[in-house]
Amino acid sequence: MNSYLARKVLCNLPCMKPLLTGQLSLIIDNNVVVELWDNGVLYFQPQGSELRNAILLSVGVHGNETAPIEIIDQLVADILAGKIAVRNSLLIVIANPKAIKSGFREIDENMNNGPLPITNAESDEHHRTRTLMNYSRDFFSMDADQKIHYDLHTAIRGSVYKQFAVSPNSSDRAETEQQCLLLGQYGIEAILTTTQKSATFSAFTANILGATSFTLELGSAKPFGENNITEFAAIIEGLHGMISGKLALEVGRKKAKRFIVAAEVPKKTDAFRLLFASDIVNFTPFNEGDVLAADKDYQYIVTKSGERILFPNENVAIGQRALVIVRPDENYTENTL
Ligand SMILES: [Zn+2]
Repeated sequence: MNSYLARKVLCNLPCMKPLLTGQLSLIIDNNVVVELWDNGVLYFQPQGSELRNAILLSVGVHGNETAPIEIIDQLVADILAGKIAVRNSLLIVIANPKAIKSGFREIDENMNNGPLPITNAESDEHHRTRTLMNYSRDFFSMDADQKIHYDLHTAIRGSVYKQFAVSPNSSDRAETEQQCLLLGQYGIEAILTTTQKSATFSAFTANILGATSFTLELGSAKPFGENNITEFAAIIEGLHGMISGKLALEVGRKKAKRFIVAAEVPKKTDAFRLLFASDIVNFTPFNEGDVLAADKDYQYIVTKSGERILFPNENVAIGQRALVIVRPDENYTENTL
């Protein structure tokens, strides 16, 4: 048993020693059962009969995105030390321990492309993705009031909105709106709602398992030890509140700006080029008439001022999405404040 958690957290905590000698379940302070389901998959169940929320927190889908791993590392240590009382069912997933150990985004495959389509069906990431889908299904098939999943990431490039979320949930659900308001409270500045077909972990739990799910982009990817954890104080406070059942919507707190997808720009041939500087950050707005991308037979021209770019990458495979164009969702008044 040599998971990142085991190495970084469990080994240092006397109360967790039984887990490391083969006993996979124990009870910690606040009457919470802890079970190590697998390498990097840790389940917390408070005892008692009342129905609770089920909260899945995943990190390390991309192994070099270290800040979320450090946040969860500390969170688990605080829970195990009895400093945070777990009052909801909680599943912690360290998604790709091998990539984390090696310091790479991935070993063979991007886990956020799901298990299909696959370029190498025998890759570790392929198997790990399937395994995590099964654990998520097991977790969310247990009775719960609300089912919530946050998949924590950091981005390759900077952003106008330093911390933002991608929501694969339909926006007409009350649970989605409640979560979007809470995320604004936790310091998330922008939320993109997308109903485009996607193979991300959060899209799987939202669309297949019925959870209210978000991919959270919390800043830039840096090596372990170089993250300034104070930048994440608001989201950490939010996670503590969620887990301990103390969260409440507060009047007058900041709301996240809301965006929808205006277009997805595919790379159709090797001639594809993005026509803006490589250091332009996510959510940068452009003006009507600006040409953002060109391929052999077409260009992408901004049709309405205020369109913004997201996740540009001209190095994707032919046929894949090279750029997302977003625009403010006019159904939300906070966008105009
Ligand atoms: Zn990522």
